Amino acid sequence: MKPTYDAKDFPQVTKIVPLDYERIAQASKREKVDGTKSIPIYITRGCPYECSFCVTPNFTGKLYRYQNPDDLIRQIETAKKVFFKAKGKSSKPWFMLCDENLGINKKKLWENLSLLKKCNINYSVFFSMNFLEDKETVRRLVDSGCNMVLVGFESIKQSTLEAYNKGHVNSAEKFASVIEECRKAGLNIQGNFLVNPALDTFEDMDDLVEFVGKNHVFMPIFQIITPYPGTKMYWEYKEKGLITDEDWEKYNAINLVIRSEHYDPVAFQHKFMTSYYKTYSWGKIANRVRRNPYKMLNLITSLAFKKNLKEQLETFELNNNIRTP
Ligand code: SF4
Repeated sequence: MKPTYDAKDFPQVTKIVPLDYERIAQASKREKVDGTKSIPIYITRGCPYECSFCVTPNFTGKLYRYQNPDDLIRQIETAKKVFFKAKGKSSKPWFMLCDENLGINKKKLWENLSLLKKCNINYSVFFSMNFLEDKETVRRLVDSGCNMVLVGFESIKQSTLEAYNKGHVNSAEKFASVIEECRKAGLNIQGNFLVNPALDTFEDMDDLVEFVGKNHVFMPIFQIITPYPGTKMYWEYKEKGLITDEDWEKYNAINLVIRSEHYDPVAFQHKFMTSYYKTYSWGKIANRVRRNPYKMLNLITSLAFKKNLKEQLETFELNNNIRTP
């Protein structure tokens, strides 16, 4: 570390600096991976939306910016060379696109998907639900090698989406049909859902488990709402006196750090954990694997989640003296 840093030679914040994968490989202890493990990369940065719980507006900014095409292709080819080793004839590198929200500009998105297609890779990406309503975009995603889209559904209740300032991005009534259309097109939709003691009841959690099961959502992730420092939600909840714990160690989205007025906090967290675990019952895993594309990926991730959630639930029950029949 230097005592001070002078930013005069740094690139403009409106541009994206290409990653130097040769240098990263030299500095990293990571060995080459086959097509079952992903290599991180990004094409764009920023998201103009302002969902109240999200760290992106403060972290990478609201200005949507993207790599130039030559830089992008060069990075992917270099990353393949230094981090990928083929296993079997059909093995392709798998990239994890860490863009906050790749689809903001449709024209640019389609151009980028054409570039990705030329690179002959598989990839997964974060994407807003509203962009998946466009069938041509979904077709192009699949055609360019996308095997999984990670979507923040957040809630199946439109009123809760409005409370998070996400009602203009997500339409709860369209969730089921969009998931089904994507599945038919050959795309896994991984779903993230938030549970909030100020906005959700135990019955809402039951509805959520049912929704996830009925729609065979791939790799569902449930999180307890967490007001991360610096977010709009943090300041709003802080002002209302709703934050009960500011030990950042506990800010991992499975601990309750805000006030639960309608339920006992331990009972609420336990309900959250049991609901989450239920989405990985054997029956739901079997249906999910049977119905979705990329069956092996579905099976392996589901088994890993099931094991992990079981351990977390058992530890929580032990620590809180909860006996289940
Ligand atoms: S759309 Fe996604 S990335 Fe953008 S602010 Fe909302 S949660 Fe964050």
